[in-house]
Amino acid sequence: MECPYEVITTTKELGSTLRSGEEFFLCHDGTILCRKCVLENYKLIISSIKNRRNDGWRVIGLPGPREEWTESHCAHCGEEL
Ligand SMILES: [Zn+2]
Repeated sequence: MECPYEVITTTKELGSTLRSGEEFFLCHDGTILCRKCVLENYKLIISSIKNRRNDGWRVIGLPGPREEWTESHCAHCGEEL
């Protein structure tokens, strides 16, 4: 499936996206993770990106415009987005 916001395909891209200060991240399964969870689970996410493993930790990009989001809570901590 082609996703217009699929901008993170390497761990390097994850790093630079984090450095640019993004608050929310889109996962392969369509869920959204908050920045705190991405930082706390960085190693798991790096591993999933590297191995293209769809275990729920594979961050693929940014969620795009908020009005298009179908998720309202972080998939990990459950905090409201
Ligand atoms: Zn979270």
